[in-house]
Amino acid sequence: MTLARAWFAERPRQELVRLDQLEIIRSPLSAPVDLLRMTALSFYTELLDESLPERDPQDAIYRLVVSVLEETTAARAEAGELQSTGTQSAGVWMPLTYFSLWMTRLMGLLPDLAHCIVCGEALHATEVFYSSYADGFFCPLHRGGTTAQLEADSWQLAQRMLRNPVAIFAAEAWPRRRGHDLRRFVLQALERHLERKLHSAEALARLGG
Ligand SMILES: [Zn+2]
Repeated sequence: MTLARAWFAERPRQELVRLDQLEIIRSPLSAPVDLLRMTALSFYTELLDESLPERDPQDAIYRLVVSVLEETTAARAEAGELQSTGTQSAGVWMPLTYFSLWMTRLMGLLPDLAHCIVCGEALHATEVFYSSYADGFFCPLHRGGTTAQLEADSWQLAQRMLRNPVAIFAAEAWPRRRGHDLRRFVLQALERHLERKLHSAEALARLGG
C-alpha cells in the first residue's frame, strides 16, 4: 500500500522489467498503525492482488485506492488511550465500505441498486432485501426465502457513495456497525466472483467488521 513512482524499462521477450529508480511518495507506515488499520490495509492488498491481472494499469481502481488510503486511519488516541472498538474513529469502517462497494462496481458485479433485480420496480429504503447468492437487491415481493433485510441507512449510503468522493463521508459519524450489512453484501459478491474467501475479511470480521 505504499504509493511510489517508478522509472523502469520493459525489455522485449522478457517478463521482468529493469527498474531504474523508485521514489516513495507516501507510505502507510508514516501514520499511526493499529491492528484494525493494518487489517484494513491487508484487505485492500488482498482484494487487489486477487482481482487484478498483472500489467493492467486500471486507472479507476488506482485512483480509488489512493483516495481511500488517505481516509484509512488508526483509532484516535484520546487521553493517551485508544478508543474502544465500539466507537472507532471514522478511520476504518467508512473507507472499507467505500472501497468494497466501488471495487464491486468497477469489477462489473454491481447492478443498479435503486431497483429490484427481478421486477425492476423502484425500491424503498425500508424494504430492501439481499441474498448471499445474488448480486443486487430485491423488493418485498421477490425477496424469496434466503434473503436478509438491508438497513435503510445502508441502502441510502450505497447510493450516495456511488455518486460522491470518499472524503465527503469522513465528516459523518462512523460507529463500527454502520454499513455492516452493506459490507457483508458486497463482500459476498466479491468472494462469489473470486471463488474463494478473503483471509483479511475473516480477520476484519473477528475485529467486529
Ligand atoms: Zn421485485
